[in-house]
Amino acid sequence: NDATLDSVHDALRAYWGYETLRPMQESAIRASLDGRDSLVVLPTGGGKSLCYQLPALMRDGYDVVVSPLISLMKDQVDGLIASGVPAVAVHSGMSPEEQDAALHAVESGDVRLLFSAPERLLTSKMRSLLARTKPNAIVIDEAHCISHWGHDFRPEYRRLTDLKSVVPDAAWHAFTATATAQVRDDIAQQLGLRDAVTLVGDCDRPNLIYRVLPRVDARGQLLEAVNRHEHEAVIVYCLSRNDTEKTAGWLKARGVEAAAYHAGLSPNVRQRVQDRFMQERLQVVCATVAFGMGVDRSNVRCVVHMAMPKSIEHYQQEAGRAGRDSLEAECLLLYSSADVLSWRRLMTRSAQEAGEESMPEHQSELLERMRRFCSSMRCRHAQLAEYFDQTLDQERCGACDVCLGESVAVEDAPVIAQKILSAVARLNSSFGAAHVIDVLKGSRKEKLTRYGHDRLSVYGLMKGEAVPVLHSYIDQLCDLGALERTPGDRPVLRLTGESSRFLKGEPETVLRRPNVAETRSGRERSR
Ligand code: ADP
Ligand code: ZN
Repeated sequence: NDATLDSVHDALRAYWGYETLRPMQESAIRASLDGRDSLVVLPTGGGKSLCYQLPALMRDGYDVVVSPLISLMKDQVDGLIASGVPAVAVHSGMSPEEQDAALHAVESGDVRLLFSAPERLLTSKMRSLLARTKPNAIVIDEAHCISHWGHDFRPEYRRLTDLKSVVPDAAWHAFTATATAQVRDDIAQQLGLRDAVTLVGDCDRPNLIYRVLPRVDARGQLLEAVNRHEHEAVIVYCLSRNDTEKTAGWLKARGVEAAAYHAGLSPNVRQRVQDRFMQERLQVVCATVAFGMGVDRSNVRCVVHMAMPKSIEHYQQEAGRAGRDSLEAECLLLYSSADVLSWRRLMTRSAQEAGEESMPEHQSELLERMRRFCSSMRCRHAQLAEYFDQTLDQERCGACDVCLGESVAVEDAPVIAQKILSAVARLNSSFGAAHVIDVLKGSRKEKLTRYGHDRLSVYGLMKGEAVPVLHSYIDQLCDLGALERTPGDRPVLRLTGESSRFLKGEPETVLRRPNVAETRSGRERSR
């Protein structure tokens, strides 16, 4: 009723200093105050935390918030306490005394919010505490972790339903930033939500400019992006710890304030990087995706992915760290079809280590959807919206490489495909991309004359094209299935079952022209 809404707004002003609730927040808060179960899907930056923090203040007793990461819990509790909201966390990073003090505070009725990781909540000590103190609600943050179909499955989330019998009267609220309809249904079913209020926010982030570019010269392309955002915050996602350090070092050597950030660094070093980034004394952080969460800032103007993430959900979440202040920001993804192979290799290895024969089918599916997103020439905003079962209103978003006309299809793609495939055929599908390119460029390298490859009809057939452009075309042809790379460390290019179609000049072939000239000037520009 109105009185409750008034006090909601009073609390909003008093504790958070905000004037209004966003529409989705208002509905979520109402569902909670009504004691209904709910499932809320809001993009990163959509304001999920307020949806479960505020209702807890409106009533006696407390709510439990299940969160997968200690760092997230700590940030939230610190923030809440700073604004005067009594909140505690219990996690493995605390001493037994600290944990006891926190639980004592819960028991005495002094706290409104208790944060915990799922496995801790399921211990017998916690169960009996919950049974005695009867929380009003169980809030599941990052609820997609419960679903096999999601991108971050955590088995311990499945066991949370054990708590149903411990606190039968509590309402359940599931929150997630990214969920396809399939994951949504799975969450509701797995958690046994009853007649849940389901709220799905618009997942499009119109202030984000998505650029998915063929990776022709990764560092040059990165530096160009960093230069576009001089004195602004940039997060660079790398696949390995080693990559973060090398990339940061390379940027530093070019006068950019950059630092690496990953789980292998000492807590002190990490804290210093985090602090410098937060205090805007550091421009660029090169982080591993597994660990980038700690370097969150609402005014990140650019997020760069040096390689393709393993799912669209991951991509949306990571790229979503840009522009949380709603101002324009750029998300640059440097893509090569080789990324797909790397992921397959990694996932297969970890599946085998877990005693499986091959990578799980759904991982393969998520990877394939991500690959299609990168290799297609359709509006990025529209593709992302579709993936999450939504549609965009406008035809052209004006905020992606495709709609901005930056990704241009080459006109003679069928002929280019024919030339490259002919070269691979003449080389008996036994050489790597670099050699194929040497032949097409008409290189004078000794290796070519030794093999007699300078006498092939395809020798020098594509003299005029730059090497990175040819690499990109080969890459794109692999994506189209016209060619494939053999697995292993020294991949060889070979023809596929589809190749003959392309060799005949498949008219539907679409190839993108990589922007190499601009990349070069970016690399050579000094700061
Ligand atoms: P999420 O958890 O969905 O990623 P957050 O809860 O971190 O989002 O909120 C994102 C940003 O939006 C934060 O900076 C937060 O302070 C701000 N915010 C949330 N709700 C409101 C509101 N009603 N009015 C103004 N700012 C808000
Ligand atoms: Zn677009």
